[in-house]
Amino acid sequence: MNLFDVYSLYDIEPVAGKGSHVFTEDGTDYLDLYGGHAVISIGHAHPRYVEAISRQAGRLGFYSNSVVNSLQTELAEKLGKASGYDDYSLFLCNSGAEANENALKLASFATGRKKVLAFSKAFHGRTSGAVASTDNPAIQAPFNKTDNVVFVPINDIEATRKALSSDEFAAVIIEGIQGVSGIHEPTPEFMRFLVKVCKMTGTLLILDEIQSGYGRTGKFFAHQHSGIHPDIITCAKGIANGFPMGAVLISPEIEAKKGMLGTTFGGNHLACAAAIAVLDVMEEERLVENAAEVGEYLISELRKIPRVKEVRGRGLMIGMEVEGFTGSELRKKLLFGHHIFTGGAGQLTVRLLPALSLSKAEADQFLNEFKEAIR
Ligand SMILES: *Cc1c(COP(=O)(O)O)cnc(C)c1O
Repeated sequence: MNLFDVYSLYDIEPVAGKGSHVFTEDGTDYLDLYGGHAVISIGHAHPRYVEAISRQAGRLGFYSNSVVNSLQTELAEKLGKASGYDDYSLFLCNSGAEANENALKLASFATGRKKVLAFSKAFHGRTSGAVASTDNPAIQAPFNKTDNVVFVPINDIEATRKALSSDEFAAVIIEGIQGVSGIHEPTPEFMRFLVKVCKMTGTLLILDEIQSGYGRTGKFFAHQHSGIHPDIITCAKGIANGFPMGAVLISPEIEAKKGMLGTTFGGNHLACAAAIAVLDVMEEERLVENAAEVGEYLISELRKIPRVKEVRGRGLMIGMEVEGFTGSELRKKLLFGHHIFTGGAGQLTVRLLPALSLSKAEADQFLNEFKEAIR
């Protein structure tokens, strides 16, 4: 059997990892500024994480959501404390798309409405409702196209106000910082406007923090830089350091009804053990603070490099464009010439999404290699 050929692959196979490094079979050491697409939050093969998953696998790897699972309660408590959303409720699933799918369904259940307002260039995942809210015709099949989703440009107050005036909207869905589009940030004024207009029109605000959340931008969630409180928050990517998991954080004003959401695998014992270990390590090693410090350092150093045209982002969610290179040219050069993994976005942008534990020394190693590469 062949693999269904949908990915553009680099001809390289990491087989082991440690912290912000991955290794190929012959022992070559690669610095990982990509984190397997913002997924590795506490570093590869963290001993606490390995121990937690191994121990849980040896005890009970899985049972269904028809019985009590105190690992879920423990995770909810820790996540409430770490995020500042103690009073919200938690629904667990298996991926980012699924988290958004559940958030959109929940908003529709709660309001009795059908429409969703999303933003130009947004990415929310590849399942039915999530991809319908994604502004990318290349990944939206005819089956997923729907008049129920309306797109307006990000940070456009007038267009947003006008669209929402019809009061048929269940939800507005927005990324904390747009990731796939190449790191574009809603302004704090726009975020505060969204909260206000949603309140006025009875629309629920869904913050997709799948890429921008979980400490990546130097606060637990990117929207916390604007001081707002959305109605629903979705997480995935870094939540369990590579173990598939998604989560929906739900405001106390939204009522749960038996059976309205559900999943077979979501919140299983192994995933919860992984996610609890991630939060424990994030707290003990002060990784949110580290992401703020090392991220700020990286961004300011990158801005000093003459050929770097633009640097966008916050903390360890960084997008940059470099004179004389397309994004994919630069990524290839960094990977094969300098053994550094980075991410892409669009034609020109290179994205940095490293583990939150990236050290200043590793940031310096990257900066030196990077300067060499673009010389
Ligand atoms: C990755 C991503 C998703 C989709 O997550 P999957 O786990 O791939 O389904 C949704 N929204 C944002 C902002 C993402 O970055």
